[in-house]
Amino acid sequence: MSPIHLVLIGPPGVGKGTQAALLEERLGTRTLSSGVIFRQEIEAETDLGRLANSYIKRGELVPNGITIEMMAKRLRSDEVRRRGFVLDGFPRTLRQADALQELLAEMELHLDRVVSLEVDLEVVVARLAGRLGCTKCGEIYHAANKPPGREGLCDKCDTPLLMREDDRPETVRERLRVFKENTQPVVEFYEARGLLRRIDANQTPEAVYASITEGIV
Ligand SMILES: [Zn+2]
Repeated sequence: MSPIHLVLIGPPGVGKGTQAALLEERLGTRTLSSGVIFRQEIEAETDLGRLANSYIKRGELVPNGITIEMMAKRLRSDEVRRRGFVLDGFPRTLRQADALQELLAEMELHLDRVVSLEVDLEVVVARLAGRLGCTKCGEIYHAANKPPGREGLCDKCDTPLLMREDDRPETVRERLRVFKENTQPVVEFYEARGLLRRIDANQTPEAVYASITEGIV
């Protein structure tokens, strides 16, 4: 079986990590997550890591050039050549998508598929709206799926439970709107090249996996 080359696009919490882990386990595909790679470079205190961190600390996006260089370093490895890759969090801009096309051409590789994991906004809002977090120990509960033993109190430490700021419907709607707006150009870039497959991420992980890999493995 020849290695596969995929890009996964989707908002936080959509199950990208689950799919990347399944692909890694079943097909041996190497996951390259831009977030993880940034952290590794920062921890290793490389020049690129220090540079990236100077932006992250200020709450700014890491510039295209730095991001592309970090990803290119990983993509050019023998391991990726052998195992193929799943990209998560990259490319995030048109310039990054262009750079990836150039790099792959230089490596004589091509993308098999770009997957956009799509969620129904109101389903996400409803799921997160039931979540309650302990302000002391961080334990997460859910009104429907994992209610605490006593209403409104943490089972572990008796602290009152609160809805987290991140889970509020208006915060969730805004986060997903921003995500969609930012990734739209990249999604269209791949759609125009016939590489895009939109997948309903509200299905079971197995059904999503089957759709991601259908016809390419
Ligand atoms: Zn607690």
